[in-house]
Amino acid sequence: MLSVDHLTKDFGNGRGLHDVSVQFPAEQTTVIVGPSGSGKTTLLRHLDFLETADAGRYRFDDLDYDLSQPLTKQEVLAARQKLGIVFQSYNLFPHLTVLGNIIEGPVHVRHMAKAEAVTQATTLLAQVGLADKASAYPDELSGGQQQRIAIARMMAMQPEYMLFDEPTSALDPELEVEVLRVIQQLATAHNSLIIVTHNMAFAESVADHIVFVEDGTIGYDGDPHTFFAQPTDRIRRFLAAGT
Ligand code: ATP
Repeated sequence: MLSVDHLTKDFGNGRGLHDVSVQFPAEQTTVIVGPSGSGKTTLLRHLDFLETADAGRYRFDDLDYDLSQPLTKQEVLAARQKLGIVFQSYNLFPHLTVLGNIIEGPVHVRHMAKAEAVTQATTLLAQVGLADKASAYPDELSGGQQQRIAIARMMAMQPEYMLFDEPTSALDPELEVEVLRVIQQLATAHNSLIIVTHNMAFAESVADHIVFVEDGTIGYDGDPHTFFAQPTDRIRRFLAAGT
């Protein structure tokens, strides 16, 4: 289980996170939604220590960190090794083939034997529907294909939790569908997912757990059915207008 308690971050401009406590259950899909600028990405980035909190507590299985104290590199690494993250921009290595991109982490970071890493990559490529692209270079692929490779590359590291930060917002709708299908499959297979998205239809179809972030605080934390079928006035306004 991954959780944060009383997480606080002040960017110094009135923005940030204010006393945020959330549990992200294992083997479930948590979807983080909320108006633009509310703090969704900031929350996700704190889970992977891409932002430094001012205060709060971070718990992940046996890890238990007081965020008001500076963390050591080893402490950050111990958490990051259990997490994979896919960003809006795919960030593939342009000079490596698709296969090279996927085996890079397992071979160089996890010290997996190359033959094993290649076998695993082949399985993952089939899983994301790109078995025929192993020797292609990223710039030969569409945005949707590149994002599916980014997902396969993350999966190759066998993370306990998979984080997605607006994974389809750079894509045209027809390319978005194929990426959402891959994420949906991961959810159906009971992986532990945390997804920031603006796509409410996708959020409703994939979520086991909804977190609504508003002005750096948690406005809702609970089951998706209540969120979508019995929204409060505030949530109804958000669902209607996205603000
Ligand atoms: P969107 O849906 O538009 O991506 P979001 O809910 O993910 O928005 P964040 O990206 O988390 O919002 O940003 C929350 C607020 O914090 C915004 O007002 C943003 O400008 C501000 N912010 C984020 N990062 C920083 C930073 N490094 N320094 C100062 N302000 C920041």
